[in-house]
Amino acid sequence: MRTRNPLISLLKQCLPDAEPIALSESDDNFAWKVGDQTPVQKFPTAATWSFLFPPGQQVSWHKQVWFAGHIPKHAFLTWVNVKHRLATRDRMRRWGLQVPASCVLCSTHNESREHLFFECSFSSVVWQHFTSAANLHPPPSFEATLSWLGRPYSNSQLVLIIRFIYQASKYAIWKERNSRLHAAISRPPEAVIADIKDTVHLRLDPLQ
Ligand SMILES: [Zn+2]
Repeated sequence: MRTRNPLISLLKQCLPDAEPIALSESDDNFAWKVGDQTPVQKFPTAATWSFLFPPGQQVSWHKQVWFAGHIPKHAFLTWVNVKHRLATRDRMRRWGLQVPASCVLCSTHNESREHLFFECSFSSVVWQHFTSAANLHPPPSFEATLSWLGRPYSNSQLVLIIRFIYQASKYAIWKERNSRLHAAISRPPEAVIADIKDTVHLRLDPLQ
């Protein structure tokens, strides 16, 4: 190919000389090579994805949040909460917002992640309703409970149910808090417990 374009001329100079065309009775075929791996005939989708987007380091709480069969909106809220990114009142006040400090559910303590989901009398009634029914005694703090949920158990069915209930409870408590705050609608813990039971039954029945 002849050209006056200086860029194309430069590219041609950089290219190796063309190999003579080899005559062969068999057809050409494609081979896919990902990184240093041996070329393969079939396009390796998973290996290509991992090569382009190397997986990050797995965190200790991964299976407590993203366990098989999780309810997406519950897992998402749990994940945001684990990252300590929910807009609880203590955080909003640290951002300089003029909001009351008190807990919307009990009005007797200041709202923080630790209080809202574990120390609050409202939340305790909801969470303990389920743990005491299963004769379980989780630790009374956010971080410790997260580790407790990740312990190996011999009964995998019980682990699944407890993780479901944990996420559903935190979701329902956050929903109740927002409902009181933004819609001025308050419900007792018993109503929230009934909702959680319905949600978990609906989810577990198809899985079983
Ligand atoms: Zn409270």
